[in-house]
Amino acid sequence: MPTHATIEVPNFGKVEVPTGLFIDNEWVESLSKETFSTVNPATGKPFLDFAHAKKEDVDRAVKSSRKAFKTVWGNNVAATERAALLNKFADLIERDAAKIGALESLNSGKGVRIAREFDVGDSIAALRYYAGLADKSHGQTLNHFGGEKFVYTLHQPIGVCGQIIPWNYPLMMWAWKVGPALAAGCTVVMKPSELTPLTALVMCDLAKEAGIPAGVINTLPGLGATTGDAISRHMDIDKVAFTGSVITGRRISVAAAESNLKKVTLELGGKSPSIIFDSADVEQAASWVAMGIWFNSGQDCTASSRLYVQEGIYDQFINALASKAKACAIGQPSDEATSFGPLISEGQRDKVLNYIESGRSEGARVVTGGQKWDKSNGGFWVEPTILADTTIDMKVVQEEIFGPVIVASKFKTEEEVIELANNTSYGLAASVFTNDAKQQTKLAHSIDAGTIWLNQYGILHPSVPFGGFKTSGIGRELGTYGLEAYQQVKAVHQNL
Ligand code: NAD
Repeated sequence: MPTHATIEVPNFGKVEVPTGLFIDNEWVESLSKETFSTVNPATGKPFLDFAHAKKEDVDRAVKSSRKAFKTVWGNNVAATERAALLNKFADLIERDAAKIGALESLNSGKGVRIAREFDVGDSIAALRYYAGLADKSHGQTLNHFGGEKFVYTLHQPIGVCGQIIPWNYPLMMWAWKVGPALAAGCTVVMKPSELTPLTALVMCDLAKEAGIPAGVINTLPGLGATTGDAISRHMDIDKVAFTGSVITGRRISVAAAESNLKKVTLELGGKSPSIIFDSADVEQAASWVAMGIWFNSGQDCTASSRLYVQEGIYDQFINALASKAKACAIGQPSDEATSFGPLISEGQRDKVLNYIESGRSEGARVVTGGQKWDKSNGGFWVEPTILADTTIDMKVVQEEIFGPVIVASKFKTEEEVIELANNTSYGLAASVFTNDAKQQTKLAHSIDAGTIWLNQYGILHPSVPFGGFKTSGIGRELGTYGLEAYQQVKAVHQNL
């Protein structure tokens, strides 16, 4: 199978794109010659076939990454030099932002403007943030031992890192992983999602053009059970960083433990509550919650998927949110105005529709949406949906739907809603809308979640740590914590 293919990209005409494995700065086929297929979520038609990396390909990539780590990266290169290369890389992504955005939109179904401005824009920002942080990570000197004894600590890169990412933000999840790893001096074996491998592969040519040495970023499209498992079990990979579902996170943890006990960080699912008190500005809060649940068509780990509204404004708030649902810019991904595209796959679409049916049968009230978009043709759209009057025992309240469905119920008191918010196995994010500053603090400190938004939703920045409590994950990405996740600390005892 050739390592490249030519596709028609809206506004760009025919574009040649990579479909092979990127190992040691070269495009190669899988040794097995196996491939897998992807589907265009807006049409349901075949999109592209990609090389399927198997265990022996993972071995090749790890060898290349290990060699790079020992010779041209890691401790051999000044952090300022790694930073300069990361900045150059970010400049090249910025140069090609329009085309990369169009490719991301085509593969994932998100609106082309959102893909360009948000997904590509935030990926550039993450690389630049970590370029800036690369030479600002220092050890300590401890000299309290008396005489000439002292201890100093070194921050050293962990080594070769496997990185396994999902399909909902293919490029942004790539940047959140590659930026800190390279800044810390690690080398990478990256596996994008089998549903959306395209932009991670497009990045490889830009990395090479930026001058990032061979072996620093190897990229292997492939399936979870084969490529992903081979990475998680590899005896010469020092760490695996994963973003995806809880079930896969558990499997990766087990594989890492059963092999060489490699380090693991996990960014997993969520069922994030939004809590609206009577004192909140209804219109503003409804706008934030609508963005929180319907951005990326609800396929967001921090989606505002549970709504608790204080009884005094419950009906008013549900009506305001329903108006926002009707105003969502549903459309074709290639349309600049579209903010609400199709779901990623037929399977995901059916899963979401089944959840809506389950909610309905358990007694939830479908306020708006609840079905396929009537202009879907072969694509996988589900309308923005509100399920109201839900109760804690319903499946739609307990499980992550990962689609454009928000479940809503009313509450009376602060204590009651804290209890409700924490009544979940997840702990990724939460938001609270109230004009009472004391209440904001109390709720922020009481809810078990890695991110709390007060009177807002969904704001992220590369400098702000991100990660989950409970089953939503282990470790943190972004910020200085995100860099430390790719370092280990060595204590050197000196006795002159
Ligand atoms: P997924 O777990 O099915 O797949 C994620 C990745 O893991 C893919 O690359 C897949 O190929 C790989 N994989 C699957 N099985 C594997 C195995 N046995 N060993 C190794 N790798 C394997 O998740 P998804 O459907 O792609 O993404 C949706 C999930 O991701 C949701 O639960 C969502 O909440 C979560 N998510 C979390 C965050 C976060 O930062 N917390 C961000 C985005 C998505």
